[in-house]
Amino acid sequence: MLSGILQLFYPRVCAGCGGLLPEKEEQVCRTCLLSFDRFPDAVSADRAMREVFSRNLSRTEDFCKAWSLYRFHKNDRLQTVIHTMKYGGSYRIGMFFGRLLGDMIADDPPAAPFGCIVPVPLHRLKKIERTYNQSEILAESIGEILGKEVRTNLVVRKRYTAPQAGLTLRQRRGNVENAFAVVSDRVPETVLLVDDVMTTGSTTAAVVQSLQAAGVRTVMLATIVLAS
Ligand SMILES: [Zn+2]
Repeated sequence: MLSGILQLFYPRVCAGCGGLLPEKEEQVCRTCLLSFDRFPDAVSADRAMREVFSRNLSRTEDFCKAWSLYRFHKNDRLQTVIHTMKYGGSYRIGMFFGRLLGDMIADDPPAAPFGCIVPVPLHRLKKIERTYNQSEILAESIGEILGKEVRTNLVVRKRYTAPQAGLTLRQRRGNVENAFAVVSDRVPETVLLVDDVMTTGSTTAAVVQSLQAAGVRTVMLATIVLAS
């Protein structure tokens, strides 16, 4: 009864199609979820991530294992959902995908566990502008599922970088080069690095390099959507 009344005043709608959400569904309706191009398993997601790194950055040694939920397709409903998550103030969408990623990692765990989870940081001014860092929300949800510590202050973004969208691959790499730094003496040996979307891998690779320069030995990656 109460949920019916709440639905009347605060309708819960799908972030993909805008339709009313059935009672048991949250953030994204089942029809939209089924329309997204989901990786069939963790192995194929890992392989796709290696292809992205190899093609764009000529590097495949940056990470030991990677998880991703979906392949990116321009103008599909997933793009609408991600856009709402990043710019529309819908942090709950980040929590939703974070739980899916946490389940995926739990189903196919790494051979040796990671010590902590680190989100790709936003510059502090950008965080004020957007009110939250969606990668941090993802990391928190993954951490809850896996019972792992999330370290939001291990890496900082030193420069206020231009948005990566619209830049060429070379410009993207230059834009984030040396943009990140590890600012803690307590450096973990193994890290799960979380980013919301990976397009060319340039930002992720720049963070991985800062982690490795600080002494992190093994980096694993997790993202919602991979452009491949
Ligand atoms: Zn929908």
